[in-house]
Amino acid sequence: MNARVIDGKAYAAGLRERIAGEVARLQREAGFTPGLAVVLVGEDPASQVYVRSKGKQTVAAGMASFEHRLAASTSQAELLGLIAKLNQDPDVHGILVQLPLPKQIDEQSVLAAVDPAKDVDGFHVVNVGKLATGAADALVPCTPLGSLMLLKDTLGDLAGRNAVVIGRSNIVGKPMAQLLIRESCTVTVAHSKTRDLPAVVRQAEIVVAAVGRAEMVKGDWIRPGATVIDVGINRVEGKDGKAKLVGDVDYESAAKVAGAITPVPGGVGPMTIACLLANTLTAACRAKGLPAPKL
Ligand code: NAP
Repeated sequence: MNARVIDGKAYAAGLRERIAGEVARLQREAGFTPGLAVVLVGEDPASQVYVRSKGKQTVAAGMASFEHRLAASTSQAELLGLIAKLNQDPDVHGILVQLPLPKQIDEQSVLAAVDPAKDVDGFHVVNVGKLATGAADALVPCTPLGSLMLLKDTLGDLAGRNAVVIGRSNIVGKPMAQLLIRESCTVTVAHSKTRDLPAVVRQAEIVVAAVGRAEMVKGDWIRPGATVIDVGINRVEGKDGKAKLVGDVDYESAAKVAGAITPVPGGVGPMTIACLLANTLTAACRAKGLPAPKL
Protein backbone atom coordinates (compact mmCIF):
# COMPACT_ATOMS: atom_id res chain seq x y z
CA MET A 1 0.00 0.00 0.00
CA ASN A 2 1.17 3.53 -0.66
CA ALA A 3 -0.12 6.10 1.80
CA ARG A 4 -2.04 9.17 0.75
CA VAL A 5 0.21 12.19 1.36
CA ILE A 6 -1.45 14.75 3.64
CA ASP A 7 -0.56 18.11 2.09
CA GLY A 8 -0.23 20.45 5.07
CA LYS A 9 1.28 23.17 2.91
CA ALA A 10 -1.81 23.33 0.70
CA TYR A 11 -4.21 23.07 3.67
CA ALA A 12 -2.35 25.87 5.50
CA ALA A 13 -2.46 28.08 2.37
CA GLY A 14 -6.23 27.57 2.15
CA LEU A 15 -6.64 28.32 5.86
CA ARG A 16 -4.58 31.54 5.55
CA GLU A 17 -6.78 32.58 2.61
CA ARG A 18 -9.96 32.02 4.64
CA ILE A 19 -8.44 34.01 7.52
CA ALA A 20 -7.53 36.89 5.18
CA GLY A 21 -11.12 36.88 3.88
CA GLU A 22 -12.47 37.13 7.44
CA VAL A 23 -9.99 39.89 8.34
CA ALA A 24 -11.12 41.92 5.30
CA ARG A 25 -14.77 41.36 6.29
CA LEU A 26 -14.08 42.54 9.87
CA GLN A 27 -12.36 45.66 8.56
CA ARG A 28 -15.31 46.39 6.26
CA GLU A 29 -18.15 45.54 8.62
CA ALA A 30 -16.75 46.15 12.12
CA GLY A 31 -14.07 48.73 11.32
CA PHE A 32 -11.13 47.13 13.09
CA THR A 33 -7.98 45.17 12.28
CA PRO A 34 -6.87 42.14 14.34
CA GLY A 35 -3.35 42.66 15.70
CA LEU A 36 -0.62 40.21 16.77
CA ALA A 37 2.37 41.21 18.92
CA VAL A 38 5.42 38.95 18.80
CA VAL A 39 8.15 39.39 21.41
CA LEU A 40 11.65 38.07 20.71
CA VAL A 41 14.34 38.25 23.39
CA GLY A 42 17.90 37.65 22.19
CA GLU A 43 19.39 36.55 18.88
CA ASP A 44 18.67 32.81 18.66
CA PRO A 45 18.93 32.24 14.86
CA ALA A 46 16.03 29.72 14.60
CA SER A 47 13.78 32.05 16.64
CA GLN A 48 14.69 34.98 14.38
CA VAL A 49 13.62 32.97 11.33
CA TYR A 50 10.29 32.01 12.99
CA VAL A 51 9.58 35.56 14.09
CA ARG A 52 10.29 36.98 10.62
CA SER A 53 8.04 34.38 9.06
CA LYS A 54 5.25 35.05 11.58
CA GLY A 55 5.45 38.79 10.89
CA LYS A 56 5.29 38.30 7.11
CA GLN A 57 2.33 35.93 7.26
CA THR A 58 0.46 38.19 9.72
CA VAL A 59 0.76 41.13 7.33
CA ALA A 60 -0.13 38.92 4.32
CA ALA A 61 -3.39 37.99 6.11
CA GLY A 62 -4.21 41.70 6.44
CA MET A 63 -3.57 41.82 10.20
CA ALA A 64 -1.45 44.31 12.11
CA SER A 65 1.94 42.93 13.17
CA PHE A 66 3.79 44.41 16.16
CA GLU A 67 7.33 43.11 16.58
CA HIS A 68 9.27 43.70 19.79
CA ARG A 69 12.93 42.66 19.64
CA LEU A 70 14.71 42.89 22.99
CA ALA A 71 18.39 42.42 23.81
CA ALA A 72 19.56 39.05 25.17
CA SER A 73 20.47 40.86 28.42
CA THR A 74 16.84 42.00 29.03
CA SER A 75 15.75 41.44 32.63
CA GLN A 76 12.61 39.56 33.62
CA ALA A 77 11.15 42.79 35.05
CA GLU A 78 11.64 44.60 31.72
CA LEU A 79 9.98 41.79 29.80
CA LEU A 80 7.07 41.66 32.26
CA GLY A 81 6.73 45.44 31.86
CA LEU A 82 6.36 45.08 28.09
CA ILE A 83 3.80 42.26 28.48
CA ALA A 84 1.77 44.41 30.89
CA LYS A 85 1.68 47.18 28.25
CA LEU A 86 0.65 44.74 25.49
CA ASN A 87 -2.08 43.32 27.75
CA GLN A 88 -3.54 46.84 28.01
CA ASP A 89 -3.12 47.79 24.32
CA PRO A 90 -6.53 47.65 22.57
CA ASP A 91 -4.88 47.23 19.13
CA VAL A 92 -3.13 44.03 20.26
CA HIS A 93 -5.44 40.99 20.30
CA GLY A 94 -2.78 38.28 20.41
CA ILE A 95 0.57 38.13 22.23
CA LEU A 96 3.25 35.57 21.49
CA VAL A 97 6.50 35.41 23.43
CA GLN A 98 9.00 33.45 21.35
CA LEU A 99 10.58 30.58 23.30
CA PRO A 100 13.19 29.73 24.43
CA LEU A 101 13.97 32.74 26.64
CA PRO A 102 17.47 33.61 27.95
CA LYS A 103 18.50 31.91 31.22
CA GLN A 104 17.92 34.93 33.51
CA ILE A 105 14.18 34.87 32.66
CA ASP A 106 11.74 32.37 34.15
CA GLU A 107 9.60 31.09 31.29
CA GLN A 108 6.61 30.09 33.45
CA SER A 109 6.38 33.56 35.07
CA VAL A 110 6.38 35.17 31.64
CA LEU A 111 3.74 32.83 30.18
CA ALA A 112 1.60 33.41 33.30
CA ALA A 113 1.78 37.19 32.79
CA VAL A 114 0.11 37.14 29.36
CA ASP A 115 -3.61 37.96 29.48
CA PRO A 116 -5.29 34.53 28.84
CA ALA A 117 -7.67 36.24 26.37
CA LYS A 118 -4.61 37.29 24.28
CA ASP A 119 -2.66 34.05 24.81
CA VAL A 120 -2.67 32.90 21.15
CA ASP A 121 -0.02 30.25 21.90
CA GLY A 122 -2.44 28.61 24.35
CA PHE A 123 0.30 28.09 26.98
CA HIS A 124 -1.30 29.99 29.91
CA VAL A 125 -2.57 27.66 32.65
CA VAL A 126 -6.05 29.14 32.23
CA ASN A 127 -6.14 27.99 28.61
CA VAL A 128 -4.49 24.66 29.48
CA GLY A 129 -7.20 24.15 32.11
CA LYS A 130 -9.97 25.21 29.73
CA LEU A 131 -8.78 22.71 27.12
CA ALA A 132 -8.56 19.96 29.74
CA THR A 133 -12.06 20.67 31.06
CA GLY A 134 -13.59 20.96 27.59
CA ALA A 135 -14.41 24.70 27.74
CA ALA A 136 -15.42 25.96 24.29
CA ASP A 137 -13.41 29.18 24.59
CA ALA A 138 -9.94 27.66 25.20
CA LEU A 139 -7.17 29.10 23.06
CA VAL A 140 -5.43 25.92 21.89
CA PRO A 141 -1.67 25.54 21.17
CA CYS A 142 -1.06 26.01 17.44
CA THR A 143 0.86 22.85 16.45
CA PRO A 144 -1.63 20.36 17.97
CA LEU A 145 -4.53 22.45 16.67
CA GLY A 146 -3.07 22.28 13.14
CA SER A 147 -2.43 18.55 13.51
CA LEU A 148 -6.07 18.01 14.52
CA MET A 149 -7.31 20.00 11.51
CA LEU A 150 -5.28 17.74 9.19
CA LEU A 151 -6.63 14.63 10.94
CA LYS A 152 -10.24 15.74 10.63
CA ASP A 153 -9.73 16.74 7.01
CA THR A 154 -8.29 13.27 6.31
CA LEU A 155 -10.60 11.07 8.40
CA GLY A 156 -13.74 13.11 9.08
CA ASP A 157 -15.31 12.07 12.39
CA LEU A 158 -12.62 10.78 14.78
CA ALA A 159 -14.99 9.38 17.44
CA GLY A 160 -14.05 5.97 18.78
CA ARG A 161 -10.69 5.75 17.02
CA ASN A 162 -7.61 4.44 18.79
CA ALA A 163 -4.97 7.17 18.90
CA VAL A 164 -1.39 6.99 20.16
CA VAL A 165 0.45 10.26 20.84
CA ILE A 166 4.21 9.78 21.23
CA GLY A 167 5.51 12.63 23.40
CA ARG A 168 4.06 14.37 26.46
CA SER A 169 5.41 17.92 26.20
CA ASN A 170 3.23 20.84 27.26
CA ILE A 171 3.59 22.34 23.79
CA VAL A 172 2.60 19.35 21.64
CA GLY A 173 1.99 15.94 23.26
CA LYS A 174 -0.31 16.84 26.15
CA PRO A 175 -2.56 19.32 24.29
CA MET A 176 -2.71 16.90 21.33
CA ALA A 177 -3.96 14.17 23.66
CA GLN A 178 -6.56 16.55 25.13
CA LEU A 179 -7.81 17.51 21.67
CA LEU A 180 -8.14 13.85 20.67
CA ILE A 181 -10.05 13.09 23.89
CA ARG A 182 -12.34 16.01 23.03
CA GLU A 183 -12.96 14.29 19.66
CA SER A 184 -13.90 11.08 21.54
CA CYS A 185 -10.83 9.10 20.52
CA THR A 186 -9.39 6.44 22.83
CA VAL A 187 -6.02 8.00 23.58
CA THR A 188 -2.72 6.53 24.73
CA VAL A 189 0.15 8.91 25.52
CA ALA A 190 3.58 7.31 25.11
CA HIS A 191 6.91 8.76 26.25
CA SER A 192 10.50 7.83 26.98
CA LYS A 193 9.53 5.40 29.75
CA THR A 194 6.89 3.55 27.69
CA ARG A 195 7.58 -0.18 27.49
CA ASP A 196 7.58 -1.83 24.04
CA LEU A 197 6.71 1.33 22.13
CA PRO A 198 6.44 -0.46 18.75
CA ALA A 199 3.70 -2.74 20.17
CA VAL A 200 1.84 0.29 21.60
CA VAL A 201 2.05 2.15 18.28
CA ARG A 202 0.80 -0.94 16.37
CA GLN A 203 -2.57 -0.58 18.18
CA ALA A 204 -3.15 2.87 16.75
CA GLU A 205 -5.46 3.94 13.95
CA ILE A 206 -4.02 7.42 14.50
CA VAL A 207 -0.35 8.00 15.34
CA VAL A 208 0.92 11.44 16.30
CA ALA A 209 4.72 11.49 16.67
CA ALA A 210 6.12 14.45 18.65
CA VAL A 211 9.40 13.15 19.97
CA GLY A 212 12.30 15.09 18.49
CA ARG A 213 14.19 11.94 17.38
CA ALA A 214 14.95 11.66 13.68
CA GLU A 215 13.05 8.85 11.92
CA MET A 216 12.52 6.89 15.16
CA VAL A 217 9.08 5.47 14.27
CA LYS A 218 9.57 2.66 11.72
CA GLY A 219 7.17 1.31 9.11
CA ASP A 220 6.80 -2.02 10.92
CA TRP A 221 5.44 -0.15 13.98
CA ILE A 222 2.52 1.16 11.93
CA ARG A 223 -0.80 -0.65 11.74
CA PRO A 224 -1.76 -1.08 8.04
CA GLY A 225 -4.01 1.80 6.95
CA ALA A 226 -3.28 4.01 9.99
CA THR A 227 -3.11 7.80 9.69
CA VAL A 228 0.30 9.14 10.70
CA ILE A 229 0.89 12.76 11.76
CA ASP A 230 4.60 13.52 12.04
CA VAL A 231 5.19 16.64 14.14
CA GLY A 232 8.96 16.16 14.37
CA ILE A 233 11.40 18.59 12.79
CA ASN A 234 14.97 17.25 12.91
CA ARG A 235 17.95 18.58 10.98
CA VAL A 236 20.20 15.73 9.77
CA GLU A 237 22.95 15.30 7.21
CA GLY A 238 21.65 13.85 3.91
CA LYS A 239 23.47 11.33 1.69
CA ASP A 240 24.91 14.25 -0.31
CA GLY A 241 26.42 15.71 2.88
CA LYS A 242 23.96 18.63 2.89
CA ALA A 243 21.64 19.36 5.85
CA LYS A 244 18.02 18.28 5.41
CA LEU A 245 14.88 18.16 7.54
CA VAL A 246 13.31 14.86 8.56
CA GLY A 247 10.47 13.99 10.91
CA ASP A 248 10.21 11.61 13.85
CA VAL A 249 8.80 8.97 11.49
CA ASP A 250 10.85 7.00 8.98
CA TYR A 251 8.76 8.28 6.07
CA GLU A 252 9.92 5.81 3.44
CA SER A 253 9.01 2.66 5.37
CA ALA A 254 5.92 4.16 7.07
CA ALA A 255 4.38 5.41 3.80
CA LYS A 256 4.34 1.81 2.52
CA VAL A 257 2.06 0.72 5.37
CA ALA A 258 0.06 3.79 6.48
CA GLY A 259 -3.24 4.87 4.92
CA ALA A 260 -2.24 8.54 5.07
CA ILE A 261 0.86 10.37 6.29
CA THR A 262 2.20 13.90 6.64
CA PRO A 263 5.57 14.58 4.97
CA VAL A 264 8.39 16.60 6.58
CA PRO A 265 8.70 19.32 5.45
CA GLY A 266 5.28 20.29 4.10
CA GLY A 267 3.05 18.52 6.63
CA VAL A 268 2.40 19.85 10.14
CA GLY A 269 5.06 22.61 9.94
CA PRO A 270 3.09 25.12 7.80
CA MET A 271 -0.03 24.58 9.95
CA THR A 272 1.57 26.11 13.06
CA ILE A 273 1.74 29.72 11.87
CA ALA A 274 -1.61 29.42 10.05
CA CYS A 275 -3.17 28.35 13.37
CA LEU A 276 -1.45 31.23 15.16
CA LEU A 277 -3.26 33.58 12.77
CA ALA A 278 -6.50 31.66 13.32
CA ASN A 279 -6.12 32.04 17.11
CA THR A 280 -5.41 35.77 16.72
CA LEU A 281 -8.55 36.19 14.64
CA THR A 282 -10.56 34.27 17.26
CA ALA A 283 -9.11 36.36 20.12
CA ALA A 284 -9.81 39.60 18.22
CA CYS A 285 -13.45 38.68 17.56
CA ARG A 286 -13.95 37.75 21.23
CA ALA A 287 -12.38 41.04 22.36
CA LYS A 288 -14.97 42.87 20.23
CA GLY A 289 -17.86 40.68 21.42
CA LEU A 290 -18.28 39.20 17.92
CA PRO A 291 -18.73 35.50 17.15
CA ALA A 292 -15.46 33.82 16.12
CA PRO A 293 -15.71 32.72 12.47
CA LYS A 294 -15.69 29.01 11.60
CA LEU A 295 -12.54 28.43 9.56
P1 NAP B 1 10.10 17.74 23.84
O1 NAP B 1 9.59 18.78 24.76
O2 NAP B 1 11.55 17.43 23.80
O3 NAP B 1 9.30 16.39 24.17
C1 NAP B 1 9.65 15.18 23.57
C2 NAP B 1 8.79 14.06 24.10
O4 NAP B 1 9.20 12.87 23.46
C3 NAP B 1 8.92 13.86 25.62
O5 NAP B 1 7.67 13.65 26.19
C4 NAP B 1 9.79 12.59 25.73
O6 NAP B 1 9.46 11.77 26.81
C5 NAP B 1 9.42 11.86 24.46
N1 NAP B 1 10.51 10.98 24.04
C6 NAP B 1 11.83 11.27 23.93
N2 NAP B 1 12.52 10.18 23.55
C7 NAP B 1 11.62 9.18 23.43
C8 NAP B 1 11.73 7.82 23.07
N3 NAP B 1 12.89 7.25 22.77
N4 NAP B 1 10.60 7.08 23.05
C9 NAP B 1 9.40 7.63 23.36
N5 NAP B 1 9.25 8.92 23.69
C10 NAP B 1 10.34 9.69 23.74
O7 NAP B 1 9.68 18.05 22.34
P2 NAP B 1 8.43 18.88 21.72
O8 NAP B 1 8.61 20.32 21.98
O9 NAP B 1 7.15 18.21 22.10
O10 NAP B 1 8.70 18.61 20.17
C11 NAP B 1 8.67 17.33 19.60
C12 NAP B 1 9.09 17.42 18.14
O11 NAP B 1 8.16 18.24 17.45
C13 NAP B 1 10.46 18.06 17.90
O12 NAP B 1 11.06 17.45 16.77
C14 NAP B 1 10.13 19.51 17.55
O13 NAP B 1 11.10 20.11 16.72
C15 NAP B 1 8.83 19.31 16.81
N6 NAP B 1 7.93 20.49 16.83
C16 NAP B 1 7.41 20.89 15.63
C17 NAP B 1 6.54 21.95 15.59
C18 NAP B 1 5.95 22.34 14.27
O14 NAP B 1 5.63 23.48 14.06
N7 NAP B 1 5.78 21.41 13.35
C19 NAP B 1 6.22 22.65 16.74
C20 NAP B 1 6.74 22.21 17.97
C21 NAP B 1 7.60 21.12 18.00
P3 NAP B 1 9.73 12.19 28.36
O15 NAP B 1 8.63 13.16 28.69
O16 NAP B 1 9.63 10.91 29.08
O17 NAP B 1 11.10 12.82 28.39
